Amino acid sequence: MKIEIRELEETRATLIISDATPYLVNSLRRVLIANTPKMAIEEVEFHMGTIRDEEGREYSSQSALFDEIIAHRLAMVPIPTDLKMFNFRDKCSCGGVGCPLCTLMFVINKRGPCTVYSGDLQPIGDSRFRVKEELIPIVKLRENQALLIYATAVLGTGEQHAKWQPVTICGYQYYPKITIDNNRVHNAEGCAATCPRKALSVDKKKNLVVADLEACNLCRNCVENCEEGAIKVEGDQRKFIFRFETDGSLTAKDALEYALNYLQEKFSEFREELSKAIQ
Ligand SMILES: [Zn+2]
Repeated sequence: MKIEIRELEETRATLIISDATPYLVNSLRRVLIANTPKMAIEEVEFHMGTIRDEEGREYSSQSALFDEIIAHRLAMVPIPTDLKMFNFRDKCSCGGVGCPLCTLMFVINKRGPCTVYSGDLQPIGDSRFRVKEELIPIVKLRENQALLIYATAVLGTGEQHAKWQPVTICGYQYYPKITIDNNRVHNAEGCAATCPRKALSVDKKKNLVVADLEACNLCRNCVENCEEGAIKVEGDQRKFIFRFETDGSLTAKDALEYALNYLQEKFSEFREELSKAIQ
């Protein structure tokens, strides 16, 4: 198997995986979605009753939304995660009580009228874990309303709940192979225009050519809308374009590294168990 990194941005990656099979590539997709962990808010504590500001003005700890809805919205906010630092709570040296190696604490202290955003989640302690997506609206507060919240984030995986799924878009396709017979093409420009992904274009000699092979998603719109037999679109069964994006809690590089190590561990575990069973 050969992996080529075509694009590696902060939260987005494209890989070309050749000499592989769909089930192997799919195992990487599944691990990225379901087994790669991130931090997410698990417990939210709401201050009840009256809240006073520095000048002694009184606010009521109320808002337009139920506490459960606010807690759910906070849980879906991407929390920056350092996978080298954090442990799963049940596997942490603290024995699951909660310590800086498995737990992150946040506070929200806002007084209306205002809109509370994800950026109002202030980490208690290390400022590295400030939420990067600062403008996710959580709730609106009216005059005399206030919100004082303590929230606890822990590590989990997408297998448990979608809030612990760091990878959002994740998928693969066969690598395209486009064959053009220009003798059959009568309207090259018209043919090129049928491609919604702009994979085809016309060269100086007015011939229909492939402009961007990897943009082709095998929709076959060109095959159906150009002269019969002029274009042939196939997918290479041993080569794949693999794309994924993260929600910003992990970088694309960290998510990929974790997933590949996870797969390697699982496969060696499987090999060991199998060889034990055979003996
Ligand atoms: Zn701990």
